[in-house]
Amino acid sequence: MLKTPAYAAAAPKSPLAPFAIERREPGPKDVLIDIRYCGVCHSDIHQGRDEWYPGIFPMVPGHEIVGTVARVGTEVTKWKPGDTVGVGCFVDSCRACDACRDGEEQYCGGGLVFTYNGLERDGKTPTYGGYSAHITVDQDYVLRVPGNLPLDAAAPLLCAGITTYSPLRHFGVQAGDRVAVVGLGGLGHMGVKIARAMGAEVTVLSHSPRKRDDALRLGAHDFVATSAGDAFTANAGRFDFILDTVSAPHDYNAYLGLLKRDRTMVLVGVPEPSLLSAFPLVMGRRRLAGSLIGGIAQTQEMLDFCGQHGVVSDIELIAVQQINEAWDRVVASDVRYRFVIDLATLPRG
Ligand code: NAP
Ligand code: ZN
Ligand code: ZN
Repeated sequence: MLKTPAYAAAAPKSPLAPFAIERREPGPKDVLIDIRYCGVCHSDIHQGRDEWYPGIFPMVPGHEIVGTVARVGTEVTKWKPGDTVGVGCFVDSCRACDACRDGEEQYCGGGLVFTYNGLERDGKTPTYGGYSAHITVDQDYVLRVPGNLPLDAAAPLLCAGITTYSPLRHFGVQAGDRVAVVGLGGLGHMGVKIARAMGAEVTVLSHSPRKRDDALRLGAHDFVATSAGDAFTANAGRFDFILDTVSAPHDYNAYLGLLKRDRTMVLVGVPEPSLLSAFPLVMGRRRLAGSLIGGIAQTQEMLDFCGQHGVVSDIELIAVQQINEAWDRVVASDVRYRFVIDLATLPRG
């Protein structure tokens, strides 16, 4: 086993602090990665604070991992030491169910192995994420990061990038479509950049007027502050597609009214439950859908797309010691627009 320095939450809601974990020695098909940067996703906070379901503690969060291949197992064909690679939200799946066979491993019915707050396929070994120095991952769950992208700013592509790219592709957003991105945080700002790179006409819907200039700078064509009294009437029936990235409970019904007839709103944000009315769906044959990250093949497609279009995240690089403060700022919608941890700052004892 490889002793690995990390940062962990000892129990739900407790602050993150230095913690030592053990990684497995690379097996024949494994890759050992030296982690250089890890993005800070709101899902890290939801899970570290037990907002979704009882988590597995101590918890080492982090699923926007980029780094360098340090060692490979004897049967590894895809990677060699020195390669620049990424790891996203899952590190294994059953490989046999319909979803896995379709390359939609994120919907694996046979036991998806989340990068952290999960169990390995043995059903008992907890997984630990990227707020750590190294990770051992099966070669089939490792991604190639395009060499032209700055590595720290590319880290958030591994979750925020694929989570927004996947529904835009799956629901067939076309150049010229009017796309609304609800919530300008980590996911939202990637949604803006990616939808823009696909040729869509992008509008940001934000809960205050504060982010107007940023939204336009990030590539949005228009901005609507939903706090304005007439926001929902003035924009009724305007959009071909709505990507809702909001992390806090909000009124889905109001946003559904902004869709044209027969169009779709996709939830990727996962706040606590809130009430849904049939009316805005029935009146306009509108659709409400959800979407979870993306499969391995599509994650690679997204990384290559971002390489071609020069799309990365706007980041604030932090030392690992700043993580608790960073989490509080994410919850306060005060992140511009993704925190990324520089793992060189991790105490190596
Ligand atoms: P984030 O950076 O915190 O962004 C969330 C945004 O939601 C904020 O920037 C803010 O945008 C808006 N918001 C926050 N509090 C609000 C409030 N009280 N009322 C209205 N709007 C509010 O979070 P993130 O990392 O992008 O993640 C967003 C959500 O997606 C989280 O729930 C996360 O768990 C989930 N997620 C899902 C997937 C998936 O596969 N489906 C993957 C990753 C993350 P404005 O200031 O512009 O309003
Ligand atoms: Zn995430
Ligand atoms: Zn499966």
